[in-house]
Amino acid sequence: MEFDLIERIRRHTEVNRDDVVEGIGDDAAIVAVPSGRELAIAVDTLVEGVHFPAGTAPADIGWKALAVNLSDLAAMGATPAWALLALTTPDGDEAFFDGLARGFAELATPYRLALVGGDTTRGPLTVTVAVHGFTAPGEALLRSGARVGDVVMVTGTLGDAAAGLRCLAEPDASAYAALVERLNRPTPRVSAGQALRGIATACIDVSDGLVADLGHICAASGVGADIDAEMLPRSSALLTHFADADALDFALAGGDDYELCFTVPADRAGEVGATLARLGCGAARVGRIVEDAGVRVFDARGNLYEPARAGWNHFAA
Ligand code: ADP
Ligand code: MG
Repeated sequence: MEFDLIERIRRHTEVNRDDVVEGIGDDAAIVAVPSGRELAIAVDTLVEGVHFPAGTAPADIGWKALAVNLSDLAAMGATPAWALLALTTPDGDEAFFDGLARGFAELATPYRLALVGGDTTRGPLTVTVAVHGFTAPGEALLRSGARVGDVVMVTGTLGDAAAGLRCLAEPDASAYAALVERLNRPTPRVSAGQALRGIATACIDVSDGLVADLGHICAASGVGADIDAEMLPRSSALLTHFADADALDFALAGGDDYELCFTVPADRAGEVGATLARLGCGAARVGRIVEDAGVRVFDARGNLYEPARAGWNHFAA
């Protein structure tokens, strides 16, 4: 039974790579790290009811479990290579395994990411993915390199996923399909992260909300940041369905965006914007790095703006 379920996953996710010496099937996978490369390794867990609502389509769960991990590799500027999948489900429903594996493969295949192993257990629905990617020594994008005077930039648009989550409660969620899609199928900015190697001074992926995650860059770099609220990139879907104040709060603190927030020397911001526009996601300038610790948000008139929501925190009271 369990073997059959694992075999279903293996079949759906098959990707041939020369550097996979032993994939799914033995006690551990064997992989060959290219000479001169370091490994970037990350793991993230999605718990039903916490990271995705109960009732989320299996394929969306499979996609998102990988996407949030690829987003971590993207934030390091690493190139994805291999993954492990630890799956806990209440029952051995074959259709669920097929759907989850299909969604996972939809995202993995274009990156030629090989699923090389995992674990399958019974319990409350929980999906853990670990990813491994390559980076050249000294090339990874860290949180700690932001310098006073750098420009703060963000890929894509912010706030859509948090808005999508709000819309799920609406009677006709299909009207908000674009926002719900951003919640269920986030796009990890892998090629953007790679393009930022050697240019960005610091980088993070926005999972908990821009203010919270930019705060991590600031803390690690020993600097602060000033954000201009009116510069935040927001989608037309978000601005169509939500009042300005709500759209702004989602963009500042909604979370689940999986865009990259990064800093670059001011004289390189234009070039970076053009490069990322060519890659399809674009990048907007949203603020600047300053000496004063912490992250401040200013409205169009230059007044300090207090976001209504704080970033996402699992352990908040
Ligand atoms: P073990 O008893 O050694 O943990 P398992 O029966 O859990 O072995 O796994 C058998 C093989 O299947 C291993 O190669 C393992 O990596 C792989 N595997 C198990 N579950 C998954 C999964 N959900 N996704 C991918 N590979 C899996
Ligand atoms: Mg096992």
